Amino acid sequence: MPDPEKRFAEEWRNAAYNCFSSGHKFCREVCPVMQVTRNESWSPTAFHANVVAMEKGELEVADVAADYVNCTGCGACELRCPNSLFTGDFYRFRTRTVDLVKAVRGLAVSQGVHQPGWQRWNLLTDERRHEPVLNGTPVDQARVRDWADGLDLPIGGETILFVDCEAAFYRTSVPRSVARILNLAGYKFGLMNEQWCCGGPAAEMGYEEQARRFAQHNLDDWRAAGVRRVLVLDPHDYITFTEDYPKYFGDAYDIEIVLVVELLAELIREGRLTPHVPVERTVTYHDPCRLNKRKGVWREPREILRAIPGLTFHDVDRVTQWSYCSGGGGGLPVEKPELTAKISEHRVEKAAELGVDTLVSACPWSERPLSEAGRARSIDVVDLHELLAESLGVAP
Ligand code: SF4
Ligand code: SF4
Repeated sequence: MPDPEKRFAEEWRNAAYNCFSSGHKFCREVCPVMQVTRNESWSPTAFHANVVAMEKGELEVADVAADYVNCTGCGACELRCPNSLFTGDFYRFRTRTVDLVKAVRGLAVSQGVHQPGWQRWNLLTDERRHEPVLNGTPVDQARVRDWADGLDLPIGGETILFVDCEAAFYRTSVPRSVARILNLAGYKFGLMNEQWCCGGPAAEMGYEEQARRFAQHNLDDWRAAGVRRVLVLDPHDYITFTEDYPKYFGDAYDIEIVLVVELLAELIREGRLTPHVPVERTVTYHDPCRLNKRKGVWREPREILRAIPGLTFHDVDRVTQWSYCSGGGGGLPVEKPELTAKISEHRVEKAAELGVDTLVSACPWSERPLSEAGRARSIDVVDLHELLAESLGVAP
C-alpha cells in the first residue's frame, strides 16, 4: 500500500470502525442518494466500511474512488447517526462522513485517480480562475462583476459581498436583489477587486492544492482592500469560508463571515426593512443542506418568509436530518447530472404533496436542478432573496 494510503487508513480507521462495528445503518434512509438509487455501495455505511477494507489491505483507493462520487455532502447521515445523536449529547461528537468523503476524493486525486467530469471541470476552473458554470454559460474573470452593472457599488472597504460563481454568472438576479435590499437598508458594502472561485467545489472534488491556491488568492485580495467582513449569500461559500479557510490559515484568518440570510432577518427584526408589497403565492421552503443540516440555520429563512405579506406558507415537517436534499451539492451535478435530476425530482414531489405553487430556496446551486424538476409539476422555484426584494418593492 503506498504511503499516502497508509496514512489515510491510520487517520480514518477509528472513525470507520466506530461505524462498522455498529452496523445499524440508520443513515441510509436519510441519504438522498440512497433514497433514489438503493445502491448499497453508495451508502454512508459503505463509505466507512471501505476504509476498514483499505486498512486491512483488501481494497485500494482506485477500487472505490468512483463510489465516493455519489454523495452530495448534505450531512444528513451525520445528524441521523446515533453516534452523533447519543454520544454527541455528551461529548459533542459528530460522525464525519462528509469529511471522510472529501478525504477519499483527495486521496484519489493525489494518487492519480480522477473522475473525468471533475478533472475537466477543475482544469477549466484553474484556467479561468472561477467555476466553468454548468451548461456552458460563458464565463471568464473579466465578467465576474457584470452582475452588478449599474448598481454603482464600490470596490473594497470594510465589508464586501462575495457572490458565488453560479449566482455571478447564471443567477444574476439573486445578487442584484441582495445588493438592492442592502442599499435600501443603508447597509454599506463593496465588491472584491479580483474575485476567484472560493475553492469549495475543488476541495469537495478532491483537488485540494487548487482549493488552497484559490483561497490564498481571495484572502490576499481581501487584505489588500482592507476587508474585515465578508457577506455571503451562497450556503456553499458559507461552509468554505467558515470551515475550509480556518483550516487552511489557522489563527491568521481574522475575517468575519456573515450569512446574508441571517443579516436580512436581523434587519427585518430591527425594523430597518419592512416587507410591504403582498406576494400572492402558496409556498414551501427548501432547506439548503449546507444551512440547515450542516450549520443549523433554518429559523431565519422562515422568519423572512413569515414577514412577507400575502404569502401562504406551508412549512415542511422535516427539518434537520430529515429535510430533503436537491442533489445539487458535492460536485454530483458535474459527474452525475442524471442522479442530481432524480434527487431534485424527489424533492419537488414532496413540495407538490403540500399543494404549493412555489418552492422557495436560499441556495443558488440548488435552484437550477430544482427549477428543471419544478417545470414538470408547474411548481415555480424562487429564491428567498428575490422574493424578499419583491415584497420590499425593489426590482433586481
Ligand atoms: S448511522 Fe452512523 S454508525 Fe450507523 S451505519 Fe450510518 S454512519 Fe455508520
Ligand atoms: S452526506 Fe448526504 S449524500 Fe453524502 S452520504 Fe451522507 S446523507 Fe448521503
